Amino acid sequence: MAKKLTPVLAGQEGLSRRGFLNFSAITGCSAFAASKMSFAQDLIAKAEAGQLGEEELYELAKAENTLYSACLNCNTGCGIKVKVIDGVAVKIDGNPYNPFTLNPHLPMTESLDRAARVDSGICPKGQAGHTGAYDPWRIRKVLKRTGKRGEGKWQSIPFAQAMDEIANGGKLFAHVPGEESRVVTGMKEIWSLRDPKVFAAMSEDVELIRKKKLTVAQFKTKHAANLHHLIDPEHPDFGPKNNQFVYMWGRKKGGRAEFDARFTGAFGTANTHGHTTVCQGSLYFASKAISEQYVGDSCADAYPYGIKALFSYMGAPTYSLPAGQTQIEALTNLDRIPLYFASDITIGTTSMYADYIIPDLHYMERWEFMGSHPNMPVKVQPVRQPVIASPNEVVTVFGEEQPLSIEAVWLGLAERLGLPGFGKDAFGPGQDLRRPDDFYLRMVANVAHDGKESVPDASDKDLEIFLKGRKHLPKSVFNVNRWQAICGASWKKVVYVLNHGGRFDTQEASFKGDMVANKWGKQVNLYQEKTWKAKDAFTGKHFFGLARFVPIVNVMGEEPTAFMKGHDLHLVTQRDVRMTKSRTIANSYLSSHMPENAIIIHTSDAKRLGLRKGQKVKVVSATNPKGEYDLKNGKTKAMIGKVLPTETIRPGIVTFTLGHGHWATGAADMTVDGTVIKGDPKRGGGIHANAAMWIDPYLKNTCMIDKVGGSVSFYDTRVKLVKVKA
Ligand code: SF4
Repeated sequence: MAKKLTPVLAGQEGLSRRGFLNFSAITGCSAFAASKMSFAQDLIAKAEAGQLGEEELYELAKAENTLYSACLNCNTGCGIKVKVIDGVAVKIDGNPYNPFTLNPHLPMTESLDRAARVDSGICPKGQAGHTGAYDPWRIRKVLKRTGKRGEGKWQSIPFAQAMDEIANGGKLFAHVPGEESRVVTGMKEIWSLRDPKVFAAMSEDVELIRKKKLTVAQFKTKHAANLHHLIDPEHPDFGPKNNQFVYMWGRKKGGRAEFDARFTGAFGTANTHGHTTVCQGSLYFASKAISEQYVGDSCADAYPYGIKALFSYMGAPTYSLPAGQTQIEALTNLDRIPLYFASDITIGTTSMYADYIIPDLHYMERWEFMGSHPNMPVKVQPVRQPVIASPNEVVTVFGEEQPLSIEAVWLGLAERLGLPGFGKDAFGPGQDLRRPDDFYLRMVANVAHDGKESVPDASDKDLEIFLKGRKHLPKSVFNVNRWQAICGASWKKVVYVLNHGGRFDTQEASFKGDMVANKWGKQVNLYQEKTWKAKDAFTGKHFFGLARFVPIVNVMGEEPTAFMKGHDLHLVTQRDVRMTKSRTIANSYLSSHMPENAIIIHTSDAKRLGLRKGQKVKVVSATNPKGEYDLKNGKTKAMIGKVLPTETIRPGIVTFTLGHGHWATGAADMTVDGTVIKGDPKRGGGIHANAAMWIDPYLKNTCMIDKVGGSVSFYDTRVKLVKVKA
């Protein structure tokens, strides 16, 4: 056994060295995870400094202290092995069973003992993942705003109270000056149309209206008894009032996708919107996905109809979207978004505008199924699973204790609404859905049994390793009797999959000679008929069926030539392997390694503009001549950064790496339960210049789009750099 390590108090060497400013203020506020984390912070600091004792180092190589999961510091989802001492994740490496990180990877038949001694490669962000889990700015209790949206004033409230208020509505913010008499519609009222038969009959008849086989008048006569469920009986195609609940998310993978859809499907809203191509440019989607970039602005315009409630999960559109400041304007509009609740692990750059923030689990504390990528020849299903305990408050839903999470939100609302498909006998007699593992363990069992052959049972020795490896997890997360009961006869196969961090085919089975065995089974079209058949909703013209260059245009198809005048540099974005996402700033390894980014231009441009390395400049464009984010709380965030001249960029181009320049997520002061929590200025270091990106001159409140790829426009804006006096 490892010797017991003594927890340290905040302010001792391990913490101050990583610059956790004002840690004592945070630890004093029970709404923040820091109040629970000083032990973990110290242990990581020792590992980071190479100060783990011999016994502890040996412990890191033991199978029982090695838990396999999947990273989420970017969307690649590499397999990870998390090395845990006394319940603390002290080091992360790659999972050698997972071909994402090792070529050739170890077969699943290789012993857990041997695999524990093989560390495969992952990037710096993956290795820093646990520092995000132990981020002192993580919240652990439900926060409800006590000031205006975005003002940074909060109180912690019981989860049950938050769920009751969101479900029932009422004068929820009577304590906020100006909102004394504002009545918020609750989810119970928004869930208007509940009868599935009526739902189906109305949907079928809306289709007939679209096909001009039924008139609106005939529809109204036929459905007279249920017209009160519609948003607008004159426009049955808008659907039921249920659609006035909008759910939007950023990064979401298999498992959570199905869990969420179970709720939104039973609730009957059509308004579930992912972030599509926001973080990755026009890689995947076309045409249809364009509409999803407009969620916030559409809400603010009440177009085509107004909404009543918005729920956001793991997304930061105010930060990540081009012209994200337009999203801030939308989110602070109480008339157009009367209720906004968010799932987040910190008070983030978008969730700071919410009415309620419900803490979510870090990716090392929860479940997901990462799937694969098209470039992966091996058949894989990496499984993300809880490997460390969460600092989040433990709450009770459907009679079951569980740490706060997005699943707890769905379950808590489902319980109050009486939504079908949740609670007792949700999956059939004796099969309940009261907690996340009810859902996800069944998915793991599906993985175990998928394909021609099921995986083998875990051996007695492997079962012992499995149980020893989870002894640090609280009963609210891992309870062997409960897990075994959920899995039934599949229990030992589930253990086998979880012991390896997923299911992975062998290298040998993935190739037939020099050909891949798992071929892309569909036709690859150079001419995309489906894309051509779709029509641009704004211009009525067909999209392009073949790849071609199209200059940036507004939604009406006009080039914004006036925007270019006087702006001599072409703005594009890029990534550095040490940062890349809005969430990666919460990883102290990364932020200490790369405290800020730069404004990168060619040396010839620097010379032409009279700029030197390190000189501060502001990024301005035709649609943002002030060069700043208006945070709509009396504050602004200027887009000022330091110049970095280089020969590695084309003349005429200016760029910055993503992940810096935050105005929340630990970067700003806030008040929680009357205590001022000081932000760390380092968390706001560097520049984020998305607000310079063009606003569509026709729509006027949203960014421009790349009509070929269906993404927002990241690579088209022209800007100029304005010197800032030191
Ligand atoms: S952050 Fe790095 S280790 Fe994690 S998924 Fe992405 S590439 Fe893999």
